[in-house]
Amino acid sequence: MSEKRQFRAIKGTRDILPPDSALWNWFEQTARETLESYNFREVRLPIFEETELFARSIGADTDVVGKEMYTVEGRPPQEVEEFRRCITGHGSRIKADRFVLKHLVHDVEQVVPELRLAVKAGDVPDTQENQKLLDGIVAHGARLQAHLRGEAILSDEQVLQLSQTIVWAAEDLRLGEAMTLRPEATASVCRAFIEHGMQTLPGNQKLYYVGPMFRRERPQKGRYRQFYQIGAEVLGQSDAPAIDAEVLEMLLVLFKRVGLANTTLYINSIGCKDCRPKYVELLREELRKIRDNPATTGKLGPDSQRRIETNPLRVLDSKLPEEQPVIEKLPRISNHLCAACRQHFSELKDELNLREICYEENWRLVRGLDYYTRTTFEVTATGLGSQNAVCGGGRYDGLVELLGGPGGVKGIGFAIGTDRAILSIQESGNLSRLPGLSVLIARMGTKAYPVAVNIARKLRACGLAVELPPQEMKFGKALSLANKLGARYAVIIGDDEVTSGTFTLKRLADADQRTLNESELLEYLESERRGSGA
Ligand code: AMP
Repeated sequence: MSEKRQFRAIKGTRDILPPDSALWNWFEQTARETLESYNFREVRLPIFEETELFARSIGADTDVVGKEMYTVEGRPPQEVEEFRRCITGHGSRIKADRFVLKHLVHDVEQVVPELRLAVKAGDVPDTQENQKLLDGIVAHGARLQAHLRGEAILSDEQVLQLSQTIVWAAEDLRLGEAMTLRPEATASVCRAFIEHGMQTLPGNQKLYYVGPMFRRERPQKGRYRQFYQIGAEVLGQSDAPAIDAEVLEMLLVLFKRVGLANTTLYINSIGCKDCRPKYVELLREELRKIRDNPATTGKLGPDSQRRIETNPLRVLDSKLPEEQPVIEKLPRISNHLCAACRQHFSELKDELNLREICYEENWRLVRGLDYYTRTTFEVTATGLGSQNAVCGGGRYDGLVELLGGPGGVKGIGFAIGTDRAILSIQESGNLSRLPGLSVLIARMGTKAYPVAVNIARKLRACGLAVELPPQEMKFGKALSLANKLGARYAVIIGDDEVTSGTFTLKRLADADQRTLNESELLEYLESERRGSGA
């Protein structure tokens, strides 16, 4: 008999239950409406992509790619596995014996062309590594064949070594596609932009997405392994600072609409491919000096020490209290921007002032991912503890080209962390505009039933959320249920109402009660719905 066990959601994932799910839907709907009012349009992307897409765009040295991705190797078709086994199966029988060798060489000659066809057909990943391994198998097979024909003389040791190398190379072939659950979606948007030739469409492309992302981080409040983002990207030929400013304006308009209070916008410029590398080198030099003279300069922790070589900008992200005095004295990028980047940043600030957007400059805002250039930004909110960033973003002018797309395409975008935005709204208790159950219908008596079914259908057609309990109920009990469910109104239908062709409408907040005929009831509740925004 199987053991009785209870299943739980996997660590770092969670269920979003009613009534929270209504808040989520409303938040996402408000985001869609706001983004669409700025002429952004939705792109629906796959949840998983080729691993290489993220490694190349986000950067191999980042935490996201290095430690946090959920990657699986897809299963190749069965016949492809069998082709490989024809070679690897020789592993246990390798001998410097003509008969054994003949078999191995024969199998290599038969199987390699089949594997090459599978690469061509897209059943096996077309990677440089796979091509190298297949070329190696062919070359070693040819040497063994020459030996068998007496055209080359190999020692027993050489024969054994070549045979073994062939078997190992076949074992190393990656037959299944490496796929990763997306840790973010900017790379996917760029991949889609390139794949569908969107650079030929008129104007800048303004796209948004809504959906789950996956990172293997240590779960805590506001940090999950499956979390949700709403993101927007502008891709095209122009990198005018007005685009950056409009994206930020849109973001803040959305936060205002959803009642996300007490947010702070931080901005920075991290330079371009001309000035940033020089600054990074300068920073690295300074950090090395600190590492080598801790007694005079102050100490860096092990993470920052490691980052001096791999990604010195990330040292600026450090939150360790003992590193703060050291970091405050480091050279600042704002003093090392090239003239074009300085001008871009200054125009961005003018554009923000024009739109009456408040911001704070934060020279340490470098963001974790490799692809950012020039403008970077982050929005923080209250009520979230240490995970207080609700949105991050920036410019990534070279990313499309880096991913094999056309040159000259500029990009800017952001991702809002929906989980955190909603947590912050909940903490602030600012939920007054949230739609919920509008009407509960209470009925008594057999004649009331068809009237109730009919009016429920009409109210729902007007866009109201209506609960019609399956059983009749004493009116006192019905009103108490309506209260518990959070309904705003109760429509009461008893014998009197059926006889007179009317409805009794009760507003639960203040017990206001009125008697209305059908068209008056529909008109009244519909106008209430419009007025409440529900
Ligand atoms: P990033 O893609 O790292 O720039 O993150 C953008 C936003 O997504 C952050 O500001 C957070 O609000 C949110 N976010 C990132 N990682 C997580 C996570 N593990 N759990 C919840 N929200 C996250």
